[in-house]
Amino acid sequence: MTQNAIIVGGGIAGLAAALSLHEVGVEVTVFESVPEVKPLGVGINLLPHAVRELDALGLLDTLEATAITPTTLAYFAAGGQLIWDEPRGRAAGYRWPQLSIHRGLLQVALHEAAVARLGADRVLTGRHLINIEHIDDGARATFERRDGTSGVETRDAAIIIAADGIHSTVRHRRHPNEGMPLWNGALLWRGAVEHTPILDGRTMVWAGHPDQKFVAYPIEDLADGRQLINFIAEYRTDDRQLMEREDWNRVGNFDDFGPRFDDWNFDWLDIPRLLRSAPGTFVFPMVDRNPLDSWTEGRVTLIGDAAHPMYPIGSNGASQGILDARVLAGCIAQHRTDPDLALAVYESVRRPPTSAIVLANRGLGPEMPMKLVHERAPHGFDNIDDVISREEILDVTDGYRRTAGFALEALASGVSLIDGDYSYLRAT
Ligand SMILES: Cc1cc2nc3c(=O)[nH]c(=O)nc-3n(C[C@H](O)[C@H](O)[C@H](O)COP(=O)(O)OP(=O)(O)OC[C@H]3O[C@@H](n4cnc5c(N)ncnc54)[C@H](O)[C@@H]3O)c2cc1C
Repeated sequence: MTQNAIIVGGGIAGLAAALSLHEVGVEVTVFESVPEVKPLGVGINLLPHAVRELDALGLLDTLEATAITPTTLAYFAAGGQLIWDEPRGRAAGYRWPQLSIHRGLLQVALHEAAVARLGADRVLTGRHLINIEHIDDGARATFERRDGTSGVETRDAAIIIAADGIHSTVRHRRHPNEGMPLWNGALLWRGAVEHTPILDGRTMVWAGHPDQKFVAYPIEDLADGRQLINFIAEYRTDDRQLMEREDWNRVGNFDDFGPRFDDWNFDWLDIPRLLRSAPGTFVFPMVDRNPLDSWTEGRVTLIGDAAHPMYPIGSNGASQGILDARVLAGCIAQHRTDPDLALAVYESVRRPPTSAIVLANRGLGPEMPMKLVHERAPHGFDNIDDVISREEILDVTDGYRRTAGFALEALASGVSLIDGDYSYLRAT
């Protein structure tokens, strides 16, 4: 009988899991390492399938009030010429929007909802997991106190869910030889800047190719008519000195990336000017890990980045963690008397598609057309149809939507994953 669960990590996946388990009547406690939850990070995108789940959790209105709902995704060549644009979110016919949101605001909204629904004594901070043991009918977690007090705390639960991110302690204990995340040579400088709206103010722009790329999308409308624009300036290098261990709070140095974009001044956006006006950046290497052949050991399983860290391509990191949370809660509710079966079903539903996304992102995912255009027309083009066909682009973008589980037809029913229809997630 699944009476209680422990969640290790109060990031987006962990908090979504806490809210979802609470929804199905499981007594759940979150143990987060940092002593205080702060709105860290910059922009993040949530795709309609994840937004549907946040809607089912009663959070859509709150999130939509602080987010931007992009209606278009536009691809541009390195010279600024339009390659392709496509509608997104409701504009593409989905019942739910895509949300471009400050990651910190999303995390705070989830945290506040968890505290309100579970109670503050079930959303604990300053508890860093240091050990897991398997016991009869469950697992035991030991936490080091990092909240100003000292000592350790041990808790038992029927199920332990590791949502402790790309450097997961639980994953490391299970796979001690895995080593550091794998780097593909790209470095990303991410920041947010107050700026006049780009294009129609509801468009997410991707410009360039895999060796040098610029991404921008608004995450907030400001009172003066400007917007808070989240941007990513990225290039590939073999300079390992700049790589180091990835950390979401590592401050970037403008001289390491800015001058490379000096001639990216287009008629629709002056990128050098935007980059120079940014108050700062965080630098992050493009890393992932190889897909695992199992996530569950005894009554302990993985979700979110702990289970399937992926390159930040195609806007899937946070969305897939939310889907994990919903499927897991649904499986636990469906197999209440058999937690082992619940975890086995969860893993069988979520591991194959998320492994496929990790691999698809290594193959550039939906960004492949930008690479093809750069290879075929490195100096620009008069007519994009001479370089790449609409069918070739759609083949990539529709294929990726199916792999990532957000094909339009898949979301037509409106039923939350917690209710147990996983069929579209298995589509490839
Ligand atoms: C500080 C931060 C800033 C980020 N900023 C961005 C951003 O700007 N844009 C973007 O696209 N993505 C960002 N991400 C990544 C993005 O949030 C995740 O890829 C995605 O949401 C998956 O979330 P997750 O909950 O699986 O993992 P994470 O968001 O990494 O959350 C893991 C949580 O587990 C906690 N934790 C780690 N180890 C332990 C332990 N041993 N015991 C207890 N708790 C532990 C961490 O403190 C963290 O709160 C950021 C992540 C973090 C942690």
